[in-house]
Amino acid sequence: MKELLKSSLPFRIGEGYDLHRLSMGRRLILGGVEIEYECGLYGHSDADCLTHAIMNAVIGALGLGDIGLHFPDTDPIYEGISSIELAGKTYRMMDDAGYMIGNIDCTVQAQAPKLAKYKSAMEEKLASVYRCGADQINIKATTGEHIGIIGRGEAIAARAVCLLIKKPDNLNQKGATLV
Ligand SMILES: [Zn+2]
Repeated sequence: MKELLKSSLPFRIGEGYDLHRLSMGRRLILGGVEIEYECGLYGHSDADCLTHAIMNAVIGALGLGDIGLHFPDTDPIYEGISSIELAGKTYRMMDDAGYMIGNIDCTVQAQAPKLAKYKSAMEEKLASVYRCGADQINIKATTGEHIGIIGRGEAIAARAVCLLIKKPDNLNQKGATLV
């Protein structure tokens, strides 16, 4: 019954946060895009903290727990996997639940490198995964003001919010009314 009630909501909001530490000898991947830098994020997968934050926002909006529940980092199947591939699985969770992206807004917090020139590519990559327009995804970047683990260049963090909209054809199919 709880699932049924959830699925009748016209809008659902979710938030997500993720942080990974920087490590030498790793590629830096953010939003599915490789960024030129001297080191990359350390983690079980490709450690793409922006994509992970967005996945957590989408899973959260669906009321289905979090990324660790669906893609545990103890599972060898996810070792070194592209986070964009995992994000595709969260797209399918959203689609199966009858929702589509309204918009996603996110912030990457990194002391370095500068991300401005990669933003469009990241927005387009994420839009292709979530099958929405690049104008429905907005990526902002900020630094760590040279303090704390981010400011010292030891880690990169990202947070995201997303709004999901019930797909109109589902509303028609189920004859649901807006709550
Ligand atoms: Zn992560």
